[in-house]
Amino acid sequence: MSGKKALICGVTGQDGAYLSRLLLEKGYEVHGASRDAQAASFANLQTLKIRDKVQVTSVNVTDFRSVMQAVERIGPDEIYNLAAQSSVGLSFEQPAQTLESISLGTLNILEAIRFAHRPIRLYSAGSSECFGNCDTAADESTPFRPRSPYAIAKAAAFWEVANYREAYGLFACTGILFNHESPLRPERYVTRKIAMGAARIARGDTEKLYLGNIGIRRDWGWAPDYVEAMWSMLQQPTPDDFVIATGETHSLEEFVALAFAEVGLDWKAHVVSDPALLRPSDLETGRGNPAKATQVLGWKARHRLKDVVSMMVAAEMQGKS
Ligand code: NDP
Repeated sequence: MSGKKALICGVTGQDGAYLSRLLLEKGYEVHGASRDAQAASFANLQTLKIRDKVQVTSVNVTDFRSVMQAVERIGPDEIYNLAAQSSVGLSFEQPAQTLESISLGTLNILEAIRFAHRPIRLYSAGSSECFGNCDTAADESTPFRPRSPYAIAKAAAFWEVANYREAYGLFACTGILFNHESPLRPERYVTRKIAMGAARIARGDTEKLYLGNIGIRRDWGWAPDYVEAMWSMLQQPTPDDFVIATGETHSLEEFVALAFAEVGLDWKAHVVSDPALLRPSDLETGRGNPAKATQVLGWKARHRLKDVVSMMVAAEMQGKS
């Protein structure tokens, strides 16, 4: 048993649920924060059957007082900040809300740790979206070229973490994670939408599946693999930033084809391209190089695209995640 206490901000999301499970398995006392713990759905924690083991609390990362009070009250050894308006598409509609939740939220947590005068370690959820289009596989030295309000906010948060580490000696790390999926992805995300669509059509529904640009290419991994990397970063002797990816890139069309093949269907008969779903500016290619994570953390993605699609469609066919 580790005897450590962790505070996970954004515990209700996909990664929050898998990280909670991982930390519980490691013997942590897990405190999970949602903006409004009274009203929030803890469906993901329920799905993983750990709702009663996570102590939930209300924290809004955009409100310094709320962060400070939680840090004082809980006294965590490690904080994982996963809270964010996390949709790239929605960030074009709500840029200010996105910037506030990510950039101000990260700053508030860094400040709260600084005021706590305790050696609290911080994991900050960065994003591969910061790189923009990746002609070659992006690593920790690749310059940022953000192309959405979401990516701009994540780039600012990355530099906040780097600055507080350098200026104040905080143990703070950014994980620059490429896309990672699971049945716990909210329905708005295209991968979940595809898995649900394939299962729905396999059950006899005749309505088509409408998608935007299926030519985009991404490096897709399995979320439970990725939360292991988050934890591992905070166990190192020195804080650092890491790119976390599978190292493989595939098109969304391949994702769709694999999903329909899982249920014995040809995707071309069921998928319609909808220009209304195109984004103002979308990345063509996401490609990551996780060599540093492999070398320093001993981390490697265990699951590749085919496994990810297969597990997501299977969960939908079983009617549960
Ligand atoms: P989710 O969207 O599933 O969860 C994010 C959580 O943040 C929500 O549960 C929500 O909790 C909270 N949140 C939502 N909007 C706001 C807001 N405006 N202000 C404050 N908190 C908010 O994200 P994931 O679990 O998929 O991702 C975790 C983190 O990793 C996020 O920061 C995301 O941007 C980042 N990331 C994710 C990747 C992925 O592929 N999944 C890739 C790279 C980075 P509540 O409503 O309970 O307060």
